[in-house]
Amino acid sequence: MRKTVIAGNWKMNKTISEALDLVKELKNRIADIDDVTAVVCPTFLCVKSVADELKGTNIHVGAQNLHWETSGAYTGEVSAEMLLAAGAEYVIIGHSERRQYFGETNETVNKKVKKALAAGLKPIVCVGEMLEDREAGNTQKVVDDHVTNGLAGLSADDMKKVIIAYEPVWAIGTGKTATPEQAQEVHAFIRKRLAEIWDEDTAESVVIQYGGSMKPENVKELLAQKDIDGGLIGGAALKADSFEALVKYNK
Ligand code: PEP
Repeated sequence: MRKTVIAGNWKMNKTISEALDLVKELKNRIADIDDVTAVVCPTFLCVKSVADELKGTNIHVGAQNLHWETSGAYTGEVSAEMLLAAGAEYVIIGHSERRQYFGETNETVNKKVKKALAAGLKPIVCVGEMLEDREAGNTQKVVDDHVTNGLAGLSADDMKKVIIAYEPVWAIGTGKTATPEQAQEVHAFIRKRLAEIWDEDTAESVVIQYGGSMKPENVKELLAQKDIDGGLIGGAALKADSFEALVKYNK
């Protein structure tokens, strides 16, 4: 019942012309994909050109952040309304790089999620522990904090529209992937918490992606796990070959 969602987080990579080169290539390879939802998340600057290029295809576009206000004196920020007008459908919120380097907290994540939903964007909300949390046995505590507080106050109907990306920070961009068993354990824990906070039906509806050095070589075994419903992918999303292979993991 949950459709697999494979989303590419391009981070601070690619100029407009480089972004267009990549999506033109992706269009040739995965434009008609229908058993998997494919999403690309370029920088703000490229959202409009990429969305225009992908119009009429099955490849969706997302942004990597947003502000919770609609407009005003917030230098350097971009609103949900602006993203929608540029052609974005999805938005990544609370990525660990934003939490680590740009002061993102559960409180700002929560404001952004609520704004994204109210405006009609689909949020991809990132949660996950640092290496020291895992080594101290605090993985569930940290993930629970991100889920409980980052998503506080959402109705069950809104929660069903949220995608959660479980991204162990020690696996992001490091080449170290969580084993399928390690990832499944946390995904199952997240789903259990969703059932406790909302209800069973909501918990079963929410797509929970894994992120952290996912690549063509490990995608199949990760997605074979019962509670892993897709991937949020950094490095391997920057090349047409690897992103195509990820989207076609079951072919
Ligand atoms: C990410 O940026 O969300 C990510 C998972 O990166 P990578 O695939 O490069 O580890």
